[in-house]
Amino acid sequence: MEISRGEIRRYLGYGKNEGDEAVNNLIEECIGELVAAASPKSISRVYPLKLLSDDWINFTVFKTRSRNLSRNLQDCEQVILFAATLGAGVDVLLHKYTKLQMSKAVTMQAAATAMIEEYCDEENRKLKEEYEDRELYLRPRFSPGYGDFPLECQKDITTVLETPKRIGIMLTDSLLMTPSKSVTAVMGISGKPYRCEIKGCESCGKADCAYRRD
Ligand code: SF4
Repeated sequence: MEISRGEIRRYLGYGKNEGDEAVNNLIEECIGELVAAASPKSISRVYPLKLLSDDWINFTVFKTRSRNLSRNLQDCEQVILFAATLGAGVDVLLHKYTKLQMSKAVTMQAAATAMIEEYCDEENRKLKEEYEDRELYLRPRFSPGYGDFPLECQKDITTVLETPKRIGIMLTDSLLMTPSKSVTAVMGISGKPYRCEIKGCESCGKADCAYRRD
């Protein structure tokens, strides 16, 4: 997995700056330790999708209401429920440096965030290619908590995908996921040949796209 150093620096607040040697060395150190500690896993399942009136969405296995997501899922007949995690070893590492060396803990957090994003992108890229072979097209992943997609839907997604048993993601009462570097998301599947950016609408140049999430 190729973790973007630029993304890590961006999370650390460097913007597009290259960062100095000390920072870049620390980033490399963190990546090395993360790669050794992580055990990335993901799971996905497909369900029929129905968009109802008043921005209600029927995912077959649960229903929710979201204007942003309804727009993004227009013209989709099915939906992929997706979850991914870097595993508990990464939390052990994050916890260790929070106690030992704060500057490294902050860099480790940024690197782990870039790593889970990259892992999700890779897994989603594989799904995208698989579906395109069947002339079906994926919308970018859309996570609970994004826009007006209720965070509570994390509960539905983790339950339906049996994430505690299958990939070890659990949800606390306050809707925090453990391991902390975990993601849940949905992705629409459409028969309309519309190629989305795997990194999502924010990095997509199609400014006038009718499905763009806002
Ligand atoms: S803006 Fe781009 S990534 Fe977003 S839905 Fe449209 S084509 Fe897909």
